[in-house]
Amino acid sequence: MDFNDTPEEAAFRKEVRAWLEANATRKSDDKQSFRARNDDPNLLEKAKAWQAKKAAAGYARITWPKEYGGRGGTPILQVIYQQEESSYLVPLGFFDIGLGMCIPTMMAYATPEQLTRYVKPALYGEEVWCQLFSEPAAGSDVAGIRTRAERDGNDWVINGQKVWTSGAHYSDYGIIITRTDPSVPKHQGLTMFFLSMKTPGVEVRPIKQMSGGANFNEVFFTNVRIPDSQRLGKVGEGWKAALTTLMNERLAVGLPSGGLDVDELMELARDTELEDGPAIRNQQVRGKLAEWYVQQQGLRFTRYRTLTALSKGQTPGPESSIIKIVAASKMQDMGALAMELMGPAGIMKEEVPNAAGFQAQWIAAAGFRIAGGTDEILRNIVAERVLGLPQDVRVDKDVPFNKLK
Ligand SMILES: Cc1cc2nc3c(=O)[nH]c(=O)nc-3n(C[C@H](O)[C@H](O)[C@H](O)COP(=O)(O)OP(=O)(O)OC[C@H]3O[C@@H](n4cnc5c(N)ncnc54)[C@H](O)[C@@H]3O)c2cc1C
Repeated sequence: MDFNDTPEEAAFRKEVRAWLEANATRKSDDKQSFRARNDDPNLLEKAKAWQAKKAAAGYARITWPKEYGGRGGTPILQVIYQQEESSYLVPLGFFDIGLGMCIPTMMAYATPEQLTRYVKPALYGEEVWCQLFSEPAAGSDVAGIRTRAERDGNDWVINGQKVWTSGAHYSDYGIIITRTDPSVPKHQGLTMFFLSMKTPGVEVRPIKQMSGGANFNEVFFTNVRIPDSQRLGKVGEGWKAALTTLMNERLAVGLPSGGLDVDELMELARDTELEDGPAIRNQQVRGKLAEWYVQQQGLRFTRYRTLTALSKGQTPGPESSIIKIVAASKMQDMGALAMELMGPAGIMKEEVPNAAGFQAQWIAAAGFRIAGGTDEILRNIVAERVLGLPQDVRVDKDVPFNKLK
């Protein structure tokens, strides 16, 4: 692959830079404290306004077809936009699940009328979507879910519980995976639906996190009645629909995030005085910085490999799992060292901008190692599907779900 922009890509980058310069604040020009920025009670409203602006300018979903408000552009153009946007201070994070996973699943299974109704409001940030998959006893093994959907005439009645649902408390819609036939093996008895989070019987309970935030929720379903027209895919083929969502999830979490990296940590090490001089001169610190620098370069080229596949119209293979395994641990380890270097200042949220950033990344990294496939699950994928090692033991594969112990 040629890593330089083609003339068209360079022209697009220039256009994006000019637009961002005119419409957003550069991170380097920001004078707000970390806390003021992130604990802003109007963040969702600001994110919706930014999303609407971005969508109107045609940058919200560059790869989507023009008929759905996209540009019909290549994934490379999408990455160029993200690279450029990462230098600016814009409220993000509220629409990734909807636009990255739920709406692509809708595009694969919903009717043209439903797409006309739901895609544009999601793209413009007017309606937020969440992913209702994980349950207390089914996360990595999402095919083991127990939330039931039972047919009643032309409706379905849903009962059960989901957990770790990011953003359910501000979401308008969600896609949900349910068990519609417990008498067949677990992957065969599932069906997917979409529903309004305001449907009677849906109860959202926020979960308080150690960071002080409450981004996740438990969601309870008590006799929630929805019409059959909200089914996505055939009855019993929910696993196939779920794979569409999960493939998009893996791709989304593997893309660059624009957070603090080795360069910022080197800067911190240069500015931090230890007992024996600047931290950048300390052999142990230097060793770690060198290791993370090597990992950073490895990640960069592995991402290029993913982009190469995308640019050729291929779907990136299971080897992309490596990106998240390495990136999440690196993020956690780097955050820990940064906080250690800063001593007591490392735990202060608003005083030192980078300190707050490293602290936030360190807290988020534990979740990043779990969301979208845990380290162990991704290692299994690499072992089985990249290295061709023997499969993990799957004793429940052919057993009817209601006969499982
Ligand atoms: C930041 C974040 C956001 C999330 N957002 C959402 C969301 O919006 N919607 C949603 O539905 N879910 C969401 N989740 C839930 C997420 O999908 C699950 O947490 C994840 O799939 C792991 O499932 P679990 O928590 O049930 O852990 P488990 O699957 O119970 O795993 C527990 C431990 O066992 C290990 N393990 C499990 N199976 C194997 C195996 N076969 N081999 C080796 N080790 C194994 C795991 O690696 C882990 O260490 C989110 C989670 C996080 C952290």
